[in-house]
Amino acid sequence: MQIKRLRLTGFKSFVDPADLRIEPGLTGIVGPNGCGKSNLLEALRWVMGETSAKSMRGAGMEDVIFAGTATRPSRDFAEVTIQADQVGEDDELEVVRRIERGAGSAYRINGRDVRAKDVALMFADAATGAHSPALVSQGRISAIIMAKPGERRAMLEEAAGISGLHVRRKDAEQR
Ligand code: ATP
Ligand code: MG
Repeated sequence: MQIKRLRLTGFKSFVDPADLRIEPGLTGIVGPNGCGKSNLLEALRWVMGETSAKSMRGAGMEDVIFAGTATRPSRDFAEVTIQADQVGEDDELEVVRRIERGAGSAYRINGRDVRAKDVALMFADAATGAHSPALVSQGRISAIIMAKPGERRAMLEEAAGISGLHVRRKDAEQR
């Protein structure tokens, strides 16, 4: 899967619509402290189904919604969209996640309403997703070094691309 485009609106510091095109090759994002580099990486994890507000540096998930500044009022929703090319498929993939104050998150895949689980499963299978080892957040390296054996095992399973299978097994056991 090749992520080609990331669009944000009302997400963290990105109050105005932002459109990031990711061309083939290496893309670098540079800027001074606090300009939103980490927020962009968090947007990518978030749209792929991140459920931990703490890992998004918030107390609750609504903390991803633009909270306002001295000069601009806060927003009532945040929305992140990614567009990707899928290996072996002609159709482009578009995933949207939107959160509204008091209403939680809603997801769409190619315009169809889906469950959070559907999004997480799809990305788990593609060996990417919110917990992909390919996404290395600030402070993550030291977290890996300090991880308990069970947590480290989960990271290895994610890297091996078998976490999707675990979710399916749990699902099957519940039926
Ligand atoms: P560094 O170089 O220090 O790592 P960075 O470019 O990674 O900086 P971020 O951590 O992405 O910066 O952005 C932090 C900024 O985002 C802070 O100014 C913070 O106030 C702002 N921010 C985070 N959440 C929100 C929110 N919900 N509403 C408005 N602004 C927010
Ligand atoms: Mg940062």
